This record gives sequence, structure tokens and C-alpha cells, in this order.
Amino acid sequence: MTGAGGDDAFIPLAAPELGGREWEYVKEALDSGWVSSAGPFVERFEAAVAAYVGVEHAVATVNGTAALHVAMLLAGVSPGDEVIMPTLTFIAPANAVRYAGGTPVFVDCDPMYLQIDPEKLAHFVETSCVWRDGALINSATGSRVRAILVVHALGHPVDLEPVLEIARSRELVVIEDCAESIGARYRGTMTGCFGDVACFSFNGNKVVTAGGAGMLLTKHEDWVERARYLTTQARDHAFEYVHEEVGYNYRPTSLNAAVGLAQMELVDEYIAVKRRIAAAYAQAVDGVAGLSAVGEAPWAFSTFWLSTVLAGDASGRALVERLRAHGIEARPIWQPMHLSPAQRGAVATDCSTAERVYAEGVCLPSSVGLSGPAQERVIGELLAAVGSGRPLEAR
Ligand SMILES: *Cc1c(COP(=O)(O)O)cnc(C)c1O
Repeated sequence: MTGAGGDDAFIPLAAPELGGREWEYVKEALDSGWVSSAGPFVERFEAAVAAYVGVEHAVATVNGTAALHVAMLLAGVSPGDEVIMPTLTFIAPANAVRYAGGTPVFVDCDPMYLQIDPEKLAHFVETSCVWRDGALINSATGSRVRAILVVHALGHPVDLEPVLEIARSRELVVIEDCAESIGARYRGTMTGCFGDVACFSFNGNKVVTAGGAGMLLTKHEDWVERARYLTTQARDHAFEYVHEEVGYNYRPTSLNAAVGLAQMELVDEYIAVKRRIAAAYAQAVDGVAGLSAVGEAPWAFSTFWLSTVLAGDASGRALVERLRAHGIEARPIWQPMHLSPAQRGAVATDCSTAERVYAEGVCLPSSVGLSGPAQERVIGELLAAVGSGRPLEAR
């Protein structure tokens, strides 16, 4: 399947690699009778992720989007509040802001690594906001800016130092969306260790999967208790059905946690493969006019969740279509959030770089199971598409 790489075998974008002890752990969970969210596997999964990332407390959730929703509630995002976030992201974090009644403020990405641009972020805070009565207020809307939500997009860490400095100086909560960046490091430290709260996803297309699950990590002990409370229907009593608040049923099942636990044993191996795949793409397009690979900043260790190229003057859209016509699952990069009809009414700053990246960006097959011959086929089509059909033997 993934590994075949024959002339017409379909090559998926990001298929899961289930090469570990998934069966063993799922069987153990079934045999134990603990199939819902109670039982040892959810706790073991939480402990494994917390230990790996290096954050003390973890609460597993049904998916990454639910973790982000709860993170908004922990951050105190209330109806009318604004949350600064990147425009170039998968839509889930923007939706999470909405679930809490908040309004996203979209900030542009940098042109090299496609992460939130700290200079443009600073520009918004310094020129469009005022400090009033102990709160940051967006002058144009009169709304309180409550938090900064960073997304380590495509597995590459955000340039966090300047972002954290802005957050500190303006008393903003920092939420990290690590759905694509488990194992990525910023100046040697894992993403997820920097914010007040960090959210992870274990969806089937992520670096490691649980089938479906998410996790919320935080160093704040009171936040972890609150997260557990909110994700279990805000249950106030061990056996009486009493609830002070509207809660959510956001806990994952043991069966999913069992899969996730098995996958965590292989996370470093999977990241190493993803990095090799990215390096092979980068080498193949090096010096090729009309194609550049999105690389890694000097201070970054990226998971390269999805290898991405920018198609220069060529249209990324045409490249995607050509690859897809050849059975290669390429995708354009996300529609920037400030252009998304679903995010009408949000606040947008100058997001011109993201608009160019949207026109040029192409995500390439990056499955851990991508075979050498399959990747050669992708590279051959890529080069042919830009009229640089170097014969395969010459590389
Ligand atoms: C996948 C993803 C999510 C959502 O995770 P789910 O588990 O699918 O709900 C959130 N943020 C980003 C950046 C993602 O890529």
C-alpha cells in the first residue's frame, strides 16, 4: 500500500503507521473490561505524553479540538474577548476560540518557516491596542485581548522568545497548539513546555495517533483539576449526580488511549523518518527554479509533520492537481483563516505573506511508511511539473 510505490499505487499524504504494540495494548484494554474513559490506559497515556514532553500535568481528551476548547476556558476566554493567533493554520484552533465565544485576531506568518510572525504580532499589540485598567484592549473594537494562541504549524516550532516577551509584558495567557509538533523543539526545549497550556492531537494523520484523541498539558495544578472537571461533565460528587456548571463529555476511550500509548513508544523513530523524508525532498528541489522546500530555522528542531514546498511563480494549485492526477496525494496549504468564510467577523491584520503562501504552498506525501521508490515517484513528478525533469539516475 503505502510502501509499494509502484507506478500507479496511490501515495497518501499522511497515513498512520501502526507498527508497534497497538494490538497488544488494545487487547489488554478489552480483556480488562475497561473500555470507556476509566481504567489504567488513559492514565498511562497521559503519563507517557507528560513525561515525553516534560510538563507535569496532562489531561487526555477525545480529540485535539476539545483540548483547545477547554484551553480557551482555562485561559478565561469569555464572550467578546479576542485571542491573537496565526492566520496560517488548520481551522481547529480558530473554531475553539469561537466555541468559547471569543473572536480571533489573525496575524500573518513569516515567509521562511510559515510560523506566526513575531514582528507583525508586536506591531498589532503596539499600534492597535492600548493598556487600560489592567487589560489589553483592541482600540478598534474596544474588546479585551485575552490570550495568544500559537500554532507550531507543520511541525516547526514558532519563534517563541519574542512572542512570550509580548505576552509577559501585556499579561496575556499563552496557549500552544502542538497538534502537529509533538517532539519538536525550540532552542532545545520541547514545544508544549512554554505556554500556560499546550494542546496535542492524536488524530490518524498526526505524527503519532490514538485513532482519535487529544491532550492538554499544563504546569498549573489548579488548571489541570479544572480541565479534568470540565471534560467529565463538571461532575461535583463521586456518586451523586450533582453539577454546578455546564461541562463536557470530552474524555477519550481506553481503547484509543491504548493505541496512543503504543504509538508514544515509537514517537522519536517516527520523527526521525519524517525528518529524513523532508531532507530528501529538500535535496531534490535544491537549486531547482520554481520550487523551494520549507526548511528549519537555525534554532528549531522540526518534526516535519508534513513536508511542504513553495511553488514560486508557478501555481501551487496546478502542482497539486498534477500530482493528484498521478495518484499522489498532495494538498494545498490551508486557506488562511482571515480568508475563511467560516471565520467571518474575526479581526484581521496585514496577512499578505500568508496569501502568497496559500497560492504557492504544496504539502507532499509525508507518511512514516513512505517508501524510497514512492518518494522518488513524487520527486520525479514534482520536477517534471516545473520542467526540471532531471533523470532519476542523475540524482
Ligand atoms: C489536527 C489539528 C488540530 C485538531 O486536532 P483533532 O484531534 O483533529 O481535533 C488542532 N490544531 C492543529 C494545528 C491541527 O493540525
